[in-house]
Formats: sequence, C-alpha cells, structure tokens
Amino acid sequence: MNETIIALATSSGSGAIAIIRISGKDAISIADSIFKAHSGRSLANSDSHTVHLGYFFDFGTVIDECLATIFKGKKSYTGEPTVEFSCHGSSYIIQQVIKVCLAKGCRLAKAGEFTLRAFLNGKMDLSQAEAVADLIASDSEASHAIAMKQMRGGFTSEIEELRAELLNFASLIELELDFSEEDVEFADRNQFRTLLSKIQKAIKRLMDSFATGNVIKNGVPVAIVGKPNAGKSTLLNALLNEERAIVSDIAGTTRDTIEEVLHIGGTAFRFIDTAGIRETSDKIEEIGVKKAKEKIAQANVLLYLYDELDNHPQEVIDFVKEVYREDLKIILLHNKVDVSSGEFGEFDQKLKSELVPKYTDIILGISAKENINIDILKSELATYAESFTSSANNIIISNSRHYEALSNALTEIIKVQEGLEMNLSGDLLAIDIREALYHLGTISGEVTNDEVLGNIFANFCIGK
Ligand code: GDP
Repeated sequence: MNETIIALATSSGSGAIAIIRISGKDAISIADSIFKAHSGRSLANSDSHTVHLGYFFDFGTVIDECLATIFKGKKSYTGEPTVEFSCHGSSYIIQQVIKVCLAKGCRLAKAGEFTLRAFLNGKMDLSQAEAVADLIASDSEASHAIAMKQMRGGFTSEIEELRAELLNFASLIELELDFSEEDVEFADRNQFRTLLSKIQKAIKRLMDSFATGNVIKNGVPVAIVGKPNAGKSTLLNALLNEERAIVSDIAGTTRDTIEEVLHIGGTAFRFIDTAGIRETSDKIEEIGVKKAKEKIAQANVLLYLYDELDNHPQEVIDFVKEVYREDLKIILLHNKVDVSSGEFGEFDQKLKSELVPKYTDIILGISAKENINIDILKSELATYAESFTSSANNIIISNSRHYEALSNALTEIIKVQEGLEMNLSGDLLAIDIREALYHLGTISGEVTNDEVLGNIFANFCIGK
C-alpha cells in the first residue's frame, strides 16, 4: 500500500465533468507538483476537506482549469491521503491528467483497489465493501435498500455480536483444558446450549433470507410460456412498450430465450421469453419445450398464455399441475380477447374450477396486441413485488459468499451441538467452535486471505 494509485472515478466517455482520484501517501505532494491553486496556496498547506480552483499543468502547459478536493491523513474513503480532480470531461484532458500523474510516480489503480484499501485501512469491513459494489449496481428501490443497509453495517453487527458470544465460550472451554487435571467447568453447558440454538436460529433466518435477497438483487425471474403463436413476444413487447422481441406469424420463431428487465413497484422483473410449449417431433422445438420447463424451474412468476382456438382446457390444466410449485406465482392469461368473445366463458370456467385457488388465483383475459388489461397484469405484478420491497427493510443477505459462509458456520454449530449432547471433551468441542468462528469471521473479513480478497475486488470497477 506504499504506492500512490490513480484512476478515473466517473464513467469513461465524455461527460460534463470527470473525476480523477489519487490515493496514497504521496497523493498531496504529487498533486502539488502538477496543480496550482488560484489562491496561490499549496495543497500541503491547506486544510483537509477543502476544495481549490486552479490550473492543472502538463509540464508547463495548462491542461485544464479544474477543482482539487483534498482529504488528508486517514480522513478519506480509502483511509489515506486522497486528492480528487474534477476536470472538464474531455477524453483528452482525462488522458493527459492521468499521464502526468503516472509520470510523477502514481500507478494505475486495479479494479476495486480504492475500496480494498478502505477495507485494509479499517474504514469498513468486508461485507460493507461488498455492499459498495452492490450499491453501485443497484437499479431498483429494493436492491438499493438492501445494499444501503449492508453498507451501514446492519448485517455484520448482528453476526459480530453472535461471534463475540461464541468466542467467549470458546475461550472458557479452552481455559478448562489448562485445568484438565482438576475437572473444572468454566463454561456453563446449559448456557452454552442456549447460545448455540440462538446462533443456529439466527444463521438459519439469514440463510432463508437469501432467496429473497437474491431475487431483489437480480430481479424477479418471470417465465412467459405458451404454445408457439400464443402471443408471448407480443406480450413482452406490450409490457416493455417497445419492439424488442421479434414478433412473427410463423409458429416457433422465438427459439432462443430473450431477457428483458422491467421495473414495476420498486422491483426489477426479468422477463424470460421462452420458446413455445408444444408436443412436437421437431427437434429444435423439443429443446425449446425443455428450455421452457427449465426456465419455469428458475422462475418465481409464470405467465402462461393460451387462447381458445389453439388450446384445450385440459392441456392447460395438466401443464399447470405439472409445473406447480408453492413458491411459483402462476398467472393464467387468456390472450387475444380482442378477437374472441372476451367473456369469462366455458373454457376459463373449466380452468377456474380445476385450478383456482390451489394452483393459481389469477385468470385474466388480455390482448397483448391491443393492449387490453396489460395494466391489470402490471398491477398484479406490482402487488407481488410488494412482499419483496417490504422485506428489504429487514436484514437480508443477497451475497452468495455470505450464504456459503453462513452455511459452513451452521454445519460446524450443529457439530458442536451434537458434540455437547455426546459429552465430548472440551478440546474436541473447541475445534468445531473455532471452525464456526472462522466461517462467521470471513463475512466481515475478520479472517480472510489474499485469494478471497482478490476474487471480491476483481468484480469491482476500476476507480472504485
Ligand atoms: P409467440 O410465438 O407466442 O411469441 O407469439 P407472437 O407474439 O409472435 O404472436 C403470434 C401472432 O399472434 C402474431 O401475429 C401476433 O400479432 C398475434 N397476436 C399476439 N397477441 C395477440 C392478441 O392479443 N390479439 C390478436 N388478435 N393477435 C395477437
């Protein structure tokens, strides 16, 4: 961390302003060698957290008139002296500013290196650092809420509390080992049992929240399914209000899956347009049917399209029963009501008597082409999304690394519980407790290694 690093912090391409960031022990002196404030005062002689207007020089030539914001000592994002140049957003200026700084001794920052330094300098724990990346990537109210909560330390403080209690017991049990001759018990076994079951419950609750967290972070996967020509692409277009998917009259054109994202009710929905469901001998279509079922397996919401002319009620009923899962919201859409009667006829009545309310609670007549009842469909999805947005206020995990760490910790906690019931000796219990502590510690980065850090920060953008 001896080197002073530099990177463009704003997105590349021209914008009104570009921010270039320098961090490291020489940041202020390097900045003083290339920037002259109009006030005539050097940055070294200025207070921390001040902004200075001046010229940026490329060995004697003025490159830009810009602002330099300075952060001194440890009082910065990275925990090291930092200078941020806010330049005019020309790609030439950006290039020259970086070039001059490199010539003065900076080196280009790696992906996520500013945040890595913030972690290594104790400015934030590892899960907070990860939340920074999530915050930047957040694109909906709900995903923003989770990232914000995690960044403010909500989730690690809960883990750290449990970890501290467990650590306390581990030390007591280890202390017993020093007095093994005397047969003493410092660690109250009943209290220990209570603590273990408390930890187990907390871990399980967090692990359960992952399904929700994952959906919020990545969007609710919605599978649009129906026979070829049922109107799946048209529906997708109607929902998106754009001509993205290719609509055609030839059955079976939508062979590859297309994904589009739409925000409804503060939650992102990922629409997966799937090839038609149809009993067929056509090889490619067979793959399509298989794919559709795979997509349904991954989806939280199924939009099943049918129309009176092309479907029999029984095949719809059989299909819905086949793919039904408790955690799958099934919405049946009777499409093309603009050409049929549009009334709740015999067909839908049959579906209703067989499928409502056990398998689905929504049978809706729509016209994807004429935009009939698409707003009702959207509001159904918004209602569904509410459960996610409201749970985003609780502590939920959305990071698979955290999920894995919790799951590993849980395995060890269960081993300790079993060991306790079998009256295992303290030294054996201590081994499993230490393992559990290790896994819990990886979440906040209390214990970590270079490989883990490398993997985490490689996913960041450069400049963050
Ligand atoms: P997919 O194979 O399920 O993706 O079906 P498409 O979206 O390509 O639609 C097949 C045909 O049905 C196209 O000609 C659409 O214009 C037509 N279509 C789709 N939805 C409706 C609708 O609500 N009403 C009518 N009349 N035609 C529709």
